[in-house]
Amino acid sequence: MTETDIVIIGAGLAGLGAAAAVRDAGRRAVVLEASNRVGGRAWTDYPAALGGVWFDMGAIWFHDAEHNPLVPIARTAGDTLLRSDEIRKERTFIGNRLANPAELAAFGNAWADYEAAADALIASRGDASLAEVTRQRPNDPWAATIEAWEGPVICAVDAGRFSALDWRRNALGGSNLVPDGGIGAFVQRRLTGGLAIRLNTPVTRVSRGGAGGRVTVETPAGSISAGACIVTVSTGVLASGMLAFDPVLPARVLNAVQSLPMGLAMKVALRATGPDRLDLPLHCSVDRILERQGEPLMPFQCWPFGRDYVQGWIGGSVALDLAKAGEAAAVDFALSYLRRAFGGRVDRLFAGGASLVTHWDADPLVRGAYCYAVPGSAHARDTLAEPVSDGHLMFAGEACHVPFAGTVAGAWLSGQTAARTALAAIRRQGFAVE
Ligand SMILES: Cc1cc2nc3c(=O)[nH]c(=O)nc-3n(C[C@H](O)[C@H](O)[C@H](O)COP(=O)(O)OP(=O)(O)OC[C@H]3O[C@@H](n4cnc5c(N)ncnc54)[C@H](O)[C@@H]3O)c2cc1C
Repeated sequence: MTETDIVIIGAGLAGLGAAAAVRDAGRRAVVLEASNRVGGRAWTDYPAALGGVWFDMGAIWFHDAEHNPLVPIARTAGDTLLRSDEIRKERTFIGNRLANPAELAAFGNAWADYEAAADALIASRGDASLAEVTRQRPNDPWAATIEAWEGPVICAVDAGRFSALDWRRNALGGSNLVPDGGIGAFVQRRLTGGLAIRLNTPVTRVSRGGAGGRVTVETPAGSISAGACIVTVSTGVLASGMLAFDPVLPARVLNAVQSLPMGLAMKVALRATGPDRLDLPLHCSVDRILERQGEPLMPFQCWPFGRDYVQGWIGGSVALDLAKAGEAAAVDFALSYLRRAFGGRVDRLFAGGASLVTHWDADPLVRGAYCYAVPGSAHARDTLAEPVSDGHLMFAGEACHVPFAGTVAGAWLSGQTAARTALAAIRRQGFAVE
């Protein structure tokens, strides 16, 4: 049996953030990670299908860069941060034509009205689904498109299942930066220094209530006894029951997990087989104005950073259906979506070319993209972050942060907050530190 001050389950952003806080406080932490790599949903791969360039399978951007705690870490280390917003060009389609400047301006201005309508609905009812906000605006020609962006595209869930309050509590402003070389590579390079991380070590059971509040975690490689434990696995993993808790978790924690299910966001990348670039500039976003509520929205980033592929993004129930139908169905869906704007050129350009489809739903160690709150349950995030057993058991991760829910920054910050509470708990018990 190994002994330590704090044992941390999961080496994603939350686990690494927690471990860094414990290290900085001069205490010992052991991070147990089931997979063979750190980073969790921050994973930079180099897929042969895309010519071996770096490609973030999960997180891409540092959102709200002005308030994002990872940005100063990257800057201090001298990393290059790509100003994705500034270099991006945009093409927005209505049907098979480009939207004109007046339409684009009206669409841009419509966002503030939609948000105000959501706030008014929340103020009168406490919460509502995002779809209800749209239904309250039958004469708003932009509402269906705003709903699609804020629900399935950004938050990975259909608007009918999504709490408008959760959306509003976590609406991020500011700019978006991309660390050159990928977020996953940044995490490995900059956020693991001086940490004791054991890979390929899945935790199967967490037992609490030992002397002085000690917690024991079991793995196939043996047990670890610690003054406190921080659990950073996704709500999908918590709901699956693959991690047993003894005694069982309090009802408020179990309810919070059920109220924060995992949504799905799927990336579909298609590599060009010829020189045609669809008359689009490099690093160009292609999206569309929807005609009706519930119509799928699949925005594309075309030729990102000058590369020879386009990358589509689809979320919510359409992504779940495509995940079930298989990779070929996802590629077909992406091609048919592009065909509406560019016609048969799409087939000539991508036919026989390589493709890549992400499968976060199929990863048993994650089980989706990130979680959302169901209507009426936005405060489940706060509940999940509350101490269990006087702080000897803490939960952290993207599910537990406001306003950075569902992001790498939120995971990192929630890990650090959980570590401070766990450190206070073990200090109260006077656990020794050498
Ligand atoms: C497609 C996609 C796009 C995204 N885009 C962005 C973006 O642009 N910007 C942004 O900020 N965020 C983005 N996110 C969200 C961001 O990646 C996550 O919010 C964040 O990485 C979650 O970190 P975490 O530590 O909470 O969880 P995770 O990263 O899931 O870490 C948990 C770790 O626990 C491990 N684990 C699971 N079970 C066990 C066990 N039994 N024992 C031990 N270890 C276990 C897992 O392997 C994993 O490594 C995106 C996510 C996806 C999927």
